[in-house]
Amino acid sequence: MATLPTYPWRLAPQGLATRRQLRAMGLRPGGQDVAAQIERPRRRRGPLVAYLYRVDDAKPVRPMTPARWAALAKANAARRRCPQCRRDAGYVIPAELGTCVPCAYPEDEQRAA
Ligand SMILES: [Zn+2]
Repeated sequence: MATLPTYPWRLAPQGLATRRQLRAMGLRPGGQDVAAQIERPRRRRGPLVAYLYRVDDAKPVRPMTPARWAALAKANAARRRCPQCRRDAGYVIPAELGTCVPCAYPEDEQRAA
């Protein structure tokens, strides 16, 4: 296979998703080629590899209805909401932090102010 862009696990760029993540959004790759891959190192074995697909080029599993779009928008909004300050962070809350960046690093915000 031609050289695919490879990213560490959890550091996939925005707009790319694994088949499983697409499925969670009600999408499927839809015949597109693999866009990139992510690797998770494992002891004594080759890394665990997952292929990434472009969310933009993904097709709905079923035709999207207004209700399905609304549910998707609601799910995305929930992923952007910080569980600590309850604000819409404007980006998906990083799983590593568990909160928005100002909540995770309050001292940085004070220094910048
Ligand atoms: Zn917050």
